[in-house]
Amino acid sequence: MTARQMVHRFAFQVRTALSMWWGVVAAVAFGVLVTRGFFVDLRAGGADLARITVAAALTALLAARLVRRIRPAVEPHADLLSPWMEAGRDLELGLLVVVATHMLMQLAGGLTSPAYPIFYAMATFLVAYNRAWVGAVLVATSLALEALILQQAGQLHSSLGLLASHVAFAVFFGTVSLVLLRVEVSNLRREHRERLDAEIASRLQKAREYRFIAAPLSSGDGRSREQQEQHLYTSAVESIHQAHYITLSLLKGTLDARACALLWLDERGDYLSLRNVATDGGRETLQWAPFPALAGACGAVIKHRTAISALEPGGRAIPYYLGGVAVGAFLGVPVMESGHLRGVMCLDREEPERFGARERQLLEDAAEQLMVTVQTERMFCAVERTKYEQERFFKASEMLNSALGLEKVYETAFVAARQIVGFEYGAITLYDDKTRRHTVASVTGEPLSGFAGLSYADNAGLVAMAIKNLHHLPAGGELRDRSQVIFTRKMVVSGVSSLVVFPLILGDRALGAFVLADRKRGLFTADRREMLGVIANQVAVSVQNGKMYKQMEDMATTDGLTGLVNHRTFQERFDEMLARAERADKPVSLLLTDIDHFKSVNDTYGHPVGDAVLREVAGVLGEQARAVDVVARYGGEEFALVLEDTDRKGALILAERIREQVAALKHPSDQGPFSCTLSLGVASYPVDGTHKKLLVERADQALYHAKEHGRNQTVCFADLG
Ligand code: GH3
Ligand code: MG
Ligand code: MG
Repeated sequence: MTARQMVHRFAFQVRTALSMWWGVVAAVAFGVLVTRGFFVDLRAGGADLARITVAAALTALLAARLVRRIRPAVEPHADLLSPWMEAGRDLELGLLVVVATHMLMQLAGGLTSPAYPIFYAMATFLVAYNRAWVGAVLVATSLALEALILQQAGQLHSSLGLLASHVAFAVFFGTVSLVLLRVEVSNLRREHRERLDAEIASRLQKAREYRFIAAPLSSGDGRSREQQEQHLYTSAVESIHQAHYITLSLLKGTLDARACALLWLDERGDYLSLRNVATDGGRETLQWAPFPALAGACGAVIKHRTAISALEPGGRAIPYYLGGVAVGAFLGVPVMESGHLRGVMCLDREEPERFGARERQLLEDAAEQLMVTVQTERMFCAVERTKYEQERFFKASEMLNSALGLEKVYETAFVAARQIVGFEYGAITLYDDKTRRHTVASVTGEPLSGFAGLSYADNAGLVAMAIKNLHHLPAGGELRDRSQVIFTRKMVVSGVSSLVVFPLILGDRALGAFVLADRKRGLFTADRREMLGVIANQVAVSVQNGKMYKQMEDMATTDGLTGLVNHRTFQERFDEMLARAERADKPVSLLLTDIDHFKSVNDTYGHPVGDAVLREVAGVLGEQARAVDVVARYGGEEFALVLEDTDRKGALILAERIREQVAALKHPSDQGPFSCTLSLGVASYPVDGTHKKLLVERADQALYHAKEHGRNQTVCFADLG
């Protein structure tokens, strides 16, 4: 509060107090006259100018005070009356009523006249229209006055019985009036609250049911996460809006106001704006644009954080009207949420009729109720969000868990991350801490497609740094400096705005990195980074599992010495190839080889040299075969080749080339270099046989024939006589 406002407030209170005390002093003076039977004489014929003037003055004063109460004076800052001052005003008016009633009684023939019940009417009135304690004080004053009158007349002793009956009746009427009034008020209040609660509950229920039916926030309904969130929030706002509007309308109707408005503070608390309003006036008279929070009567509520009841503040003092709207009375209460000011709830009416304590209480209750509605919706949204995220997480981790092969893991990692946010492109890199090299293991999205399989040395790029720091980079999820290197200086990714590189952490080291990028800004918000971080951790585990799975698979399918597929795998792949050949009506050839006099190689040069020879020969076979062919270690020093889409002629050419190359190999040994030769047997599908067993048998026969006829040669089964 500024100094000027404080002076203003003080001056107003002094003025009010003075005018109030003036009325009380007058009432006491009149009271003294009454106790002396001043007005009895008037009736008894002692009518002189002085008595008539006094009676007229009392009547005039009472009338003036009554008029002021019914049509209060123009007081622009009447809102600043304290409850004590309000009680003082009530006492002043009440005293005047008491004294005037006694005057009337004396005119009507004194306390014993049949008009006495007028006192009971007065007692009922005073109790009903004042605070209980003010009413009690006034009734007691009236009875005291009565006792004083009797004493002055010297009749107190003889009239004690009469006085006692008057006291008893006054107490009875006052109490009955009080009880009836309180019951009535509390009934009204309860009814109103019940209606309010029922209406709010039904609206919220409907909104919720509607949303459950039309748009549950769950994955897989074909809408993007953004769309779903947007829908969730707009429906929450809509249901809050509806619930609030009902409350405002009810209040407006119940409290006979012209408008009941809810004003909301902006996030910084600088501006208020009209959020929701129920009004009899036109909506075009309302100020819909935000206005300074401290302006006018609403500003007073914000400043003092307390209810403000003002009389005739004039149109300008009510900032939610555009002007030219006459406002007689205003009531504003703060809308608080756990100690924070959220807005102001206002009532106004055209008549200069102050909103009282009852209205204030109702408005405060309603303000609390409004906040509860907001909190309920907020909680509802939070629950929906959590549900959604958990669903997504569950789905993502389920997918990652079921991905076995590394390729499948890479593919699933991107799908899982897309459950959290739709990004344009991404990559998974692996880091080998022995060679200190990074390899791009997998990519998604066109701009990165050329990077798949590329390998580069450790550097200061974001991928390398994230792996070193074991923390995602860049911290804010945005590539602020376009010149910043992601992979290497040579691998340029243009147009990236949103970027996040997660290290694939396993224990205290990182296997590689999970890179996600997009051309749009602000994609990787803090909460999304958090979720993606969890996904990245799962990707790390899955990559590790994938690597182990690959190792196990390799161990199970390949031969440890030569790296060729083993006998079991040869059988499986030969079956597959024959099935394919049969479907496509294409030839397949089987080539069986056996090293000549291998036992003597072992014997002469030792077993390790024999092993080296096996590896060399396997190398020749691997080089000569195509990717589609199967090259297997069939037995000890026997190898098998299954050649796809190759007939006997083609097989023979390849077999001869292999034989020549093997023969040309020079194997080093202690005793100088030596060479060895190969015998080969060929059988072809479908000419030599249509199933595996027969083909193997016939290739073996051809091989045997080669051995028998001098070794170092290729024999086709078809050429056997
Ligand atoms: P042939 O020309 O008739 O084939 O004569 P050979 O000596 O090669 O006879 P055979 O094929 O029966 O001999 C197989 C030999 O290969 C026996 C074994 O010592 C050797 N051998 C089998 N597996 C391995 C292996 O893994 N390492 C080494 N160094 N020798 C092996
Ligand atoms: Mg052999
Ligand atoms: Mg042999």
